[in-house]
Amino acid sequence: MTAAAKIDIKSLLFPELQEKLQEPAEPSYRAGQIMDWLYKKRAGAFEQMTDLPQSLRARLAEKFSIGKIDIVRVLGSRDTTRKFLFCLSDGNLIESVLIPASSALYGEKSDRRTVCISTQVGCAYGCKFCASGLEGFSRNLRANEIVDQIIAVERASGEKIDNLVFMGMGEPLANFDHVMRAIRIINAPWGLGIGARHITVSTSGLVPQIKKLANEPLHIRLAISLHGATDAVRSQIMPINRRYNIETLLSACDYYVARKKQRLTFEYILIAGVNDADEQARLLSRHARRLSAKVNLIPYNRIEGLSWLRPSQNQQERFLSILRAHGISATLRREKGGDIDAACGQLRLQTKRKFCSGAL
Ligand code: SAH
Ligand code: SF4
Repeated sequence: MTAAAKIDIKSLLFPELQEKLQEPAEPSYRAGQIMDWLYKKRAGAFEQMTDLPQSLRARLAEKFSIGKIDIVRVLGSRDTTRKFLFCLSDGNLIESVLIPASSALYGEKSDRRTVCISTQVGCAYGCKFCASGLEGFSRNLRANEIVDQIIAVERASGEKIDNLVFMGMGEPLANFDHVMRAIRIINAPWGLGIGARHITVSTSGLVPQIKKLANEPLHIRLAISLHGATDAVRSQIMPINRRYNIETLLSACDYYVARKKQRLTFEYILIAGVNDADEQARLLSRHARRLSAKVNLIPYNRIEGLSWLRPSQNQQERFLSILRAHGISATLRREKGGDIDAACGQLRLQTKRKFCSGAL
């Protein structure tokens, strides 16, 4: 079997691996041993799984591959936010961002080591402020490519990741099945063991998938990229608003909150003269109150080739104070330095291409 035709073993859930080990039947503890080698000891080859019989190792190698994604570039330094650029097996590029413990994530101090991961190559939703949307959609990431980002960042940084945000390149809910499968592997005690409460999925507002997620048993957190408090403003910067307008989106959020008994977060990028007027802050407060949602304000991060600007510090603070005056729990991301501290998923692919010598 060629490498390409083999299933990546890291895309399997525990019962699926057990089932694959039925013919010929292996003792029931084998699946546990294999998962341990993959996720605890991080074996890169079946040969290393020395407590498995040689014949089983050979059979596994015949049937499965153990994928690994290559880091082609790291930006940033050890004690600040670091971006990892990966080259996938087909030459596509994605990135993950490691936000170290005690740095400000959304203005809140966190003692967790957070990774922001990608779910697609590119994005089909074309938000007007976002680098990932600018170059269109290439493909969905498979579950193992999502899980491998965390494994690769842990290996390269020597840090144990204990918080995850799906806010890198791509729209996670548009790749629902692979993302949910990856989350199960990330969350499972036999997998990476990251608690569901420490996993946040961010969406630009795919209404049917928000409802679907509400019916999933996993209690992960959900963030909604709102970025506009009226349809006129939101449609100007987020084309998806023409398909699912704010009221439709908020109704799906009502459903989610009712099912999950959980607080949502609204993300709101502040763009000068576009969505930063006082009236937007007042209406945003109303939406947040309806759902008891928290609000994360993110000053727009400049993207090469786009002419939007972030509002002045004063205007950012003013927007925040209006939300707080309305009793909303809100934070403002205050960035200290250059681009590297900014939002994840923001490197333009054109800039990235020169780093990958794969099949481009
Ligand atoms: N597609 C999903 C998740 C990826 S985007 C979503 O849209 O929610 C993750 C976050 O990065 C979103 O809140 C997005 O709005 C933000 N982001 C995108 N471009 C940005 C920019 N130029 N400056 C600051 N934040 C940005
Ligand atoms: Fe896609 Fe999210 Fe960027 Fe919009 S903000 S283009 S949905 S990645």
